[in-house]
Amino acid sequence: MRHFPIFVDLHGQRVAVSGAGETAAAKLRLLLKTQADIHVYGDDAHEVVRGWANDARLTLHERAIAADDVAGARLVYGANDDDPHEDARVADLARAAGVLVNLVDNLDGSQFITPAIVDRDPVTVAIGTEGAAPVLARRIKAQIETMLPATLGVLAQAAAAFRDTVEAHLPMGRLRRVFWSAYFDGNGERALEKDGEAGLAAHLKGALDRLLANDNETSGRVDLVGAGPGDPELLTLKARTRLHEADVVLYDRLVDPRVLELARREAVLIEVGKTAFGESWKQDDINAEMVRHARDGHHVVRLKSGDPLVFGRADEEMDALEGAGIPFAVVPGITSAVAAAAQARVSLTRRGRNSELRFITAHDAKGFAEHEWRTLASGRTAAAVYMGVKAARFLQGRLLIHGGARDLAVTVVENISRTDERRVDTTLGRLAEDMDDAGIRGPAILLVGLAARSTAARGMTESIATPRIAASAS
Ligand code: SAH
Repeated sequence: MRHFPIFVDLHGQRVAVSGAGETAAAKLRLLLKTQADIHVYGDDAHEVVRGWANDARLTLHERAIAADDVAGARLVYGANDDDPHEDARVADLARAAGVLVNLVDNLDGSQFITPAIVDRDPVTVAIGTEGAAPVLARRIKAQIETMLPATLGVLAQAAAAFRDTVEAHLPMGRLRRVFWSAYFDGNGERALEKDGEAGLAAHLKGALDRLLANDNETSGRVDLVGAGPGDPELLTLKARTRLHEADVVLYDRLVDPRVLELARREAVLIEVGKTAFGESWKQDDINAEMVRHARDGHHVVRLKSGDPLVFGRADEEMDALEGAGIPFAVVPGITSAVAAAAQARVSLTRRGRNSELRFITAHDAKGFAEHEWRTLASGRTAAAVYMGVKAARFLQGRLLIHGGARDLAVTVVENISRTDERRVDTTLGRLAEDMDDAGIRGPAILLVGLAARSTAARGMTESIATPRIAASAS
């Protein structure tokens, strides 16, 4: 992002526009929406510019702009139709005076650019494409214009006038959002239709009284939400919404930062990461933290990688919530095993090959986990192994001892759906060695008994992540 979007307060501020022709008129149409003190410089003024000057909406100076005109301005525009030299002179003046300058249709000569604007004052949507594609900006503008009802500005103004009252009566966080969501999600619009603009204040007051009378609304709640393997596009819509509503997000170390981006800016984000070896947060502390925030009346999202109910100690968390009488819900996510299979484009079950699939962990509370090795080694079942990187040699040894074939397919997918996603296609006989050679550090899923679709067929369908570095180490 080269251009950082901000909203500049132009109330009573001087804006100098060099040029009074058609180009200037187009910019002035936007500037006249503000409360700026607008000064236009140029001889040959366009008649609409003259008209605005006659109506005292701006001051027209029928001469070229000079250094003194620029000093003290908040913004300067160079809008001299087909006169790049004059624009360059304006830019020099502005730079010398330390004032931000925009030259119309000259990205490199400008220090700021004016976005395409959807105006529902006081709501303003600014659209920028870094000057790359004005056509795209116009299309997006048209789409947003249709999305935002024309009455939005009126609704927002009434909301602004009532804001202090709401802040005096409702604590910050969920309750205030519940109040405003109901208003903007349709109640305000309906009140406006029924009683007109003048009825909005009464509507807001009534809604606040009703909310205040209903105490149980003030209790917090917790959602255990699956964050999927990484790519935010692999989140469910419900996960997205819940994440967007949360006051507090308690997330695991494995949750992708791109997913956290979807939380509101005001939300409190707390990493309650546990590493496979050596816990930084004890499960009890996580439970206590969840309960504490919910008791404060907050909407808490407990965000877990993949699916929250797969190897995530979610029962302990739900027990704690139930014990504390806090309402909770679970939002499922795409578990890593499923995402790994999608990456390798291999079916997790297949007629005649395996009619069952096991999700196993290579670690349990005691260390490397023991399993029914003989069945797992038989080739008649497939297993997705979680937390299996450090245990790869142990797994390999156990499966071989219990009769596993050296050429039994194993597919390892690391950092699924992240930019550093990698896959190792190997066999039981070479598993640990190939993982070492490829430098697999995890997080990774080992699909035992499943071979990725051959690279020859690659490119026929899209895989789930953007970069696909298949480190085929066989
Ligand atoms: N609840 C999670 C699993 C948590 S246990 C889920 O449903 O996926 C942690 C293990 O999940 C890791 O050791 C690894 O085996 C796997 N894992 C989590 N995210 C992963 C990712 N992006 N890529 C590969 N494996 C992942």
